[in-house]
Amino acid sequence: MTQRILTGYRPTGKLHLGNLHGNLRGMIELQEKAECFFFIADWHALTTDYQDPSLLHAYIEEMVLDWLAAGIDPDKAAIYRQSDLPEVAEFQLYLSMITPLGWLERVPSFKEQQEQLQGKDIATHGFLGYPVLQAADILMVRADGVPVGEDQLPHLELTREIVRRFNFLYGETFAEPRSLLSHSPRIPGTDGRKMSKSYGNYISLTDPPDEIKRKVLSMITDPARRTRKDPGDPEKCSAFQLHKVYSADGLAGIAEKCRTAAWGCVECKGILAERVVESLLPFQERRRELESRPGFAWEVMERGLAKVKPVAGGVLADVRMRMGID
Ligand code: SF4
Repeated sequence: MTQRILTGYRPTGKLHLGNLHGNLRGMIELQEKAECFFFIADWHALTTDYQDPSLLHAYIEEMVLDWLAAGIDPDKAAIYRQSDLPEVAEFQLYLSMITPLGWLERVPSFKEQQEQLQGKDIATHGFLGYPVLQAADILMVRADGVPVGEDQLPHLELTREIVRRFNFLYGETFAEPRSLLSHSPRIPGTDGRKMSKSYGNYISLTDPPDEIKRKVLSMITDPARRTRKDPGDPEKCSAFQLHKVYSADGLAGIAEKCRTAAWGCVECKGILAERVVESLLPFQERRRELESRPGFAWEVMERGLAKVKPVAGGVLADVRMRMGID
């Protein structure tokens, strides 16, 4: 039987190299062998950014265009916007009735995010409850598998706990979804930390070549290489981490030249920048072509909605019946 996969992305605008190598590549592979539901998690975006939703609409469109240009095929995967499927909100309400508060408070990211996002007031019902919204997203299509990074495993475990509780209370209704752990390379940002929009250290897939070169040249390198003559340790250099992805064929030579100070960092990073620019050319060409078709991203989401709607309707009818709301 074909596996059913669901994954969602918060709309944060244009995607970057970290997104591409993180889970976008995985999504492109999965659409070839599974029934895929890829949704734009705009309600999730509101849990932390409710104070200024002015860019949300534009971000959604940008992200869908990036997905399509990268190779997500709307004929293979259902692409839809979460808020176009109100069944999810109703389902979340039902699931929230049976989810103990303690389960939500102990999700590790709840405390971590509160500390990291100190400029934002996220002491809200919506933020505390977002793992329940995730459970509703997943169970709404009866997903068998959910691609996740290590840090998201506790969320999926919570969904599995909610499934067990639902089945215990109302009879066997849902199967527990499995995690599909992604083994993607770590993509460093220009400052050496994980590439992320929130750190402002990213290289967008749509950045023009000059911008990519500027960003790559600004990447943090081995601090021991203070002058051109100092030998370096490539493993202490964020540019080298990116070389591992973009220059795998010549990696040993690059490492050797670094260790022996046979070349300087500017030359080394110049080659890296060329590789990144070259690898993004087909994507950027396709992206420009998609941009020239106004409203195309929204058409794609409508098509995806038509695919997911009957699935969600069936699940919701079952849930209502089991919870006495039919
Ligand atoms: S030579 Fe290359 S790998 Fe070595 S520190 Fe400089 S940029 Fe990094």
